[in-house]
Amino acid sequence: TRNLIVILGDQLTPVLSSLTEADPARDTVLMVEVAEETTYVRHHKKKLVLILSAMRHFAEELAEKGFKVRYIRLDDEDNTGSFGDELARAARALKPERIIVTEAAERRVVEAMKGWETQIGIPVEIRQDDRFLASHAEFQRWAEGRRELTMEYFYRDMRRKTRLLMEGDKPVGGRWNFDAENRKPATATLFRKERKGIKPDKITKDVAALVEARFPDHMGSTEGFSFAVTRKDAEAIADTFIADFLPFFGETQDAMLAGDPFLNHALLSFYINIGLLDPLEICRAAERAYLEGDAPIEAVEGFIRQIIGWREYVRGIYWLAGPGYEHRNFFEARRPLPDFFWTGKTDMRCLSTVIGETIDHAYAHHIQRLMITGNFALLAGLDPYALHIWYLEVYADAFEWVELPNVVGMSQYADGGFLASKPYAASGAYVSRMSDYCTGCRYDVKQKTGDKACPLNALYWHFLDRHADKLSRNRRLAQPYATWRRMDEGQKAVYRASAEAFLARLDAGGAV
Ligand code: FAD
Repeated sequence: TRNLIVILGDQLTPVLSSLTEADPARDTVLMVEVAEETTYVRHHKKKLVLILSAMRHFAEELAEKGFKVRYIRLDDEDNTGSFGDELARAARALKPERIIVTEAAERRVVEAMKGWETQIGIPVEIRQDDRFLASHAEFQRWAEGRRELTMEYFYRDMRRKTRLLMEGDKPVGGRWNFDAENRKPATATLFRKERKGIKPDKITKDVAALVEARFPDHMGSTEGFSFAVTRKDAEAIADTFIADFLPFFGETQDAMLAGDPFLNHALLSFYINIGLLDPLEICRAAERAYLEGDAPIEAVEGFIRQIIGWREYVRGIYWLAGPGYEHRNFFEARRPLPDFFWTGKTDMRCLSTVIGETIDHAYAHHIQRLMITGNFALLAGLDPYALHIWYLEVYADAFEWVELPNVVGMSQYADGGFLASKPYAASGAYVSRMSDYCTGCRYDVKQKTGDKACPLNALYWHFLDRHADKLSRNRRLAQPYATWRRMDEGQKAVYRASAEAFLARLDAGGAV
């Protein structure tokens, strides 16, 4: 073998940088299902099926193109379970002149890659991952010398770079950002089209059986698995999204409805993150829908911003923040995650709905992650590292480079404001305005304190009160702190006692 090309589970892209100039006649591809990767956190079963099945399909496609693929399955008898050992074994067997790999998306794996050359004694070429718009160096240049790393400005640069929704050097429609139009609460509709999943084939069924057998106590079930596991099927799902859901994407972006877990969201993050879909191509397709008059600007701009703005930005932050980011804990929050994060069994209907849907689908949309589970964790002072591991486990699209900044930075403010300009803290009023979760909840969102009151109400003030030293000078929190200061001492004491009673119940493992 001339080159041994290593392809990771989230690198399932035919035009991957490690595959450019690859020669099926002289090169061999190595793909490994590593026990290490499946168990370092206890991934949701549907997530494991998605990744392993998509890997097996990708290997087949490469083989159809004539590549020799050395594919090591999880249950192969001689699988050592460690990536480094499998690479060494392949190198011994194939004696390649060179190892070629596209840089991994997460730090832990990049660090391991850097050690390969000395470990194995063969030159290793690590190529840049050009599936991202901004290289590490480009993001660093953008961030240099800025006092605040505001996503919006980075996003505008990405618009200019990609020319998406641009007229000359001006944004289409005269504005960069149409978010103000996109904050409507949801109303139930009978007209939303049904989501059509993909029927599992033989490969997926085999993987599902393997996952059930090997990881019986991981979250969820392989039952009802309907993700795409090939590029062709993922593209078909993306086309359907653009035709049927994108036109309404903006208006329901921040809304939550019980019994409607997907609303008009894309459900594409899983495919983009493992390489089945190209983020820029999807954005171009969305732009076409706007240009052809099939979707309004606020929907299309909002969608494109999520991908070339937020997605690229959080990746930049992940690398910029450096090692140890996962242990940032600005509020010194130490409370362990309550059991209901794994069972969904709580009387708070917002949390039971979102966690229940997470267990069923390995999916929750952005506002559910940020404003239901994330907000609760923030207010209740749950340990951000434990929360990070939870998010990494339960969502099918969770990879550290994207999950970590979203959890530690955006949702928990555990980085003290490196990513976000204020913590996303909200009381029950927000949940009641943006969702129908409060209807039929045992707790009453209108009551502020006491046993029947929505716990988020007292927890909200408790959070602001206990972190006043760290937050009260934040300009974006001036209003709530002014309200808190104006409140009479008696009322403050009732809020404090109410929140503390709830937290004591939580700590004692009581029903909440
Ligand atoms: P849509 O809402 O339809 O958005 C379209 C696309 O935009 C997504 O597919 C995604 O690629 C991109 N996108 C949107 N928001 C973000 C964001 N904040 N960061 C990065 N990309 C974004 N996203 C992940 O891909 N993996 C994660 O592990 C992950 N963890 C999160 C944890 C928390 C606490 C929060 C608040 C957000 C997290 N997100 C994560 C971002 C976002 O919630 C998901 O990308 C989105 O819900 C995926 O569903 P969708 O494809 O239907 O997205």
